[in-house]
Amino acid sequence: MHWKNWPDYLGVPDERGYARFHETGFLILVGKNRDISTILEHHRALGIPFEEWDLETLQEREPFLDLHSFYPPRRPDDERFGETSGEQLTGAVFIPSGGYVNDPQLSVHNVQRAAEANGATFRFKAEVVEIRQADGRVAGIRLQGNEEIDSPIVVNAAGPHSFMVNRMAGIEESMKIKTRALRHEVHYVPAPDGYVIEKHGHVTSDDDIAGYNRPETGNLLLVGSQDPECDPLDWVDDPDNFNREISDEQWRAQVYRQAQRIPGLPVGGQARGIVDLYDVSDDWIPIYDKSDLRGFYLAIGTSGNQYKNGPMAGLLMAELIHACENGHDHDENPVQVRCPITGLVLDTGFYARNRDINEDSSFSVMG
Ligand SMILES: Cc1cc2nc3c(=O)[nH]c(=O)nc-3n(C[C@H](O)[C@H](O)[C@H](O)COP(=O)(O)OP(=O)(O)OC[C@H]3O[C@@H](n4cnc5c(N)ncnc54)[C@H](O)[C@@H]3O)c2cc1C
Repeated sequence: MHWKNWPDYLGVPDERGYARFHETGFLILVGKNRDISTILEHHRALGIPFEEWDLETLQEREPFLDLHSFYPPRRPDDERFGETSGEQLTGAVFIPSGGYVNDPQLSVHNVQRAAEANGATFRFKAEVVEIRQADGRVAGIRLQGNEEIDSPIVVNAAGPHSFMVNRMAGIEESMKIKTRALRHEVHYVPAPDGYVIEKHGHVTSDDDIAGYNRPETGNLLLVGSQDPECDPLDWVDDPDNFNREISDEQWRAQVYRQAQRIPGLPVGGQARGIVDLYDVSDDWIPIYDKSDLRGFYLAIGTSGNQYKNGPMAGLLMAELIHACENGHDHDENPVQVRCPITGLVLDTGFYARNRDINEDSSFSVMG
């Protein structure tokens, strides 16, 4: 809802304009390998409308799709790549209120302007090299070049560098759940002939081929991977130094898998896309928490999937920090946050740094 009413949420103008939420709907293709009963249960409990489509409806609504099952996902050099058992998917679930935000960089500029209007200041191109401590709690940071900034509260929101900042604070070893940087690619492919973004352009998740796609500006499809077992995970030890080139091999794996589902997808062009790092926690669920260093807080482990949760993550962290700084024992009695729109209460203990690994997680970018 915050994204839908983005200008109202921000409450201030931005000279660059606003990022826009595209309410395209979210389509989950369902095959025999996928049990989505928990997802539906959560949607029912939260009052989020969804439609269950049988195969006929799916074919009618999505004429571009080949509905055969290709499970399990394979790499294109596997001789069985593209084989189908002859079985079909079982149907789909469509969530009309799903969608995507067109311009993440503009969206964070929007947030910058809103924060500035509330007294925040920003420093860009300044690297934190030390988390300073005094009297058993955080005292501030030191920047490259030796400048010190004093602060009784520091939040680690360093994305894929989160583990490095935790090491600076000396708290990494005291956490049960840790974070690591994972290299990931998303690719752009022209939409097939006859594909009209406004009509067919949903965000689509497809476990059967372990891929997702969504529309991208310029009548393109953005194609991503849901990390099937056959794909090697490319963990990165130094987030300042990794291969930023699209790999032809991974491009083929992701785009060819999508072409199984969308046979008209033009796959002959040049490999194009984005390479960057996910900040992945051990169970692919974020850590929103305090730490064992007083005054040092954690908003990390976004695992490739927390972007649109930003507004709620901000609220959650603000309430958590406020409570802890006023003497609340969050480890013993996790802070409960009332969600401003649904009125539901979020138990922030779910995101604790010392939780047991959540075995119900998808252990993928799907969270
Ligand atoms: C290829 C790709 C595709 C993605 N697609 C999606 C998607 O479709 N949907 C979704 O929900 N999410 C997606 N994500 C994940 C999403 O980008 C992250 O969840 C989100 O960016 C996390 O925001 P953040 O502010 O926590 O961290 P980041 O956006 O990573 O920002 C961290 C900031 O900290 C700075 N920093 C780090 N170390 C230091 C230091 N020592 N000193 C000073 N500054 C420092 C970094 O420079 C950076 O500016 C994707 C990620 C990737 C890589």
